[in-house]
Amino acid sequence: MALIVHKYGGTSMGSTERIRNVAKRVAKWARAGHRMVVVPSAMSGETNRLLGLAKELAPAKPTTPYNRELDMLAATGEQASSALLAIALQSEGVEAVSYTGWQMGVQTDSSYTKARIERIDDERVRADLDAGRVVVVTGFQGVDELGNITTLGRGGSDTSAVAIAAAMKADECLIYTDVDGVYTTDPRVEPDARRLAKISFEEMLEMASLGSKVLQIRSVEFAGKYRVPLRVLSSFTPWDIDINEEAVSGTLITFEEDETMEQAVVSGIAFSRDEAKISVLGVPDKPGIAYHILGAVADANIEVDVIIQNLSKDGKTDFSFTVNRAEFARTVDLLKTKVLPTLGAADIVGDTKICKVSIVGIGMRSHVGVASKMFRVLSEEGINIQMISTSEIKTSVVIDEKYMELAVRALHKAFDLDQPAN
Ligand code: ASP
Ligand code: MG
Repeated sequence: MALIVHKYGGTSMGSTERIRNVAKRVAKWARAGHRMVVVPSAMSGETNRLLGLAKELAPAKPTTPYNRELDMLAATGEQASSALLAIALQSEGVEAVSYTGWQMGVQTDSSYTKARIERIDDERVRADLDAGRVVVVTGFQGVDELGNITTLGRGGSDTSAVAIAAAMKADECLIYTDVDGVYTTDPRVEPDARRLAKISFEEMLEMASLGSKVLQIRSVEFAGKYRVPLRVLSSFTPWDIDINEEAVSGTLITFEEDETMEQAVVSGIAFSRDEAKISVLGVPDKPGIAYHILGAVADANIEVDVIIQNLSKDGKTDFSFTVNRAEFARTVDLLKTKVLPTLGAADIVGDTKICKVSIVGIGMRSHVGVASKMFRVLSEEGINIQMISTSEIKTSVVIDEKYMELAVRALHKAFDLDQPAN
């Protein structure tokens, strides 16, 4: 008897009818003899609705006590959906019980709205499983040392499910969602995008951090750390689909680099409009400059992504980097008020109309010329590259936002991602 964790996203839990479908599917797995733990998200739109209410009443400056109440509030979305799922399971004739994060013993730190899981105490759940019950555990939430309710950041139910699977040494964690797997790129941008039957954990980590929103990145980190077998699949197949067929559908996140994976040099193309570029112009080119600029940015808790420094001319250089678009105004303000006056730089210019497009593939480790092919393809489309950053298994470029779709499609074709994998 395998121990299986199912996770259902907000769309899959979006109405009582859909919850009934989830219950039927879970009941099928339980009847097939599996020990089942199910982690649902809040019903779609519910977390936004709750946070919207809070915003209407929010104090001018968010404080820690305010964030505590946000978590108290947002966690109710999952509490409701979990109870509804347990009720629906009972209607299917399956014994089921639901637990909140604190009842289950999901211990986190105290960073409200973005807490990290530290420990999971699964004793109570094991007892229920032993007694033949299906256990439903709220996603997205936990409890800190002092008993305060915490949440794990938007999309955090993925991480709850993987963390529970890791703690309980589950045989597999199935993430049911509104798409049927991980694609070579977003099918809304490139209709010829293909579902990948498998993707390596490292590629998935890059894809998640580069803008593919299929899984919360922390859940992928967790899966990697504890080697949790993870599969992303659709909750919109008929619930009574053959269980053996269902068990191999979607995309498997794998830890083995098998032969078929090595053949694909590039496995996917990720893109993101979430960043903005800032350039500090006419900086005196001397030791400590990068630290002077980026140290101040880091001290303000602003994350920096791509960085370039130009060749210096007459002892001056230009320095550019990207930050999350939501942090753009704050970063420019910080640089203007705190950094420019002591730096002696000439000016700051910014551009929020950029995007980042990345090619990802573990095959890039063993193949040369992959990045240069990317640059050639972009040049043939007349797309100017503003910044470049690389790692062992990815190359990212920053380009004008208006070319994003064109770049994604051209690269998708050039790297044969529209062709079936062999
Ligand atoms: N309900 C939470 C959110 O909307 C967590 C999740 O769905 O994973 O972000
Ligand atoms: Mg999600």
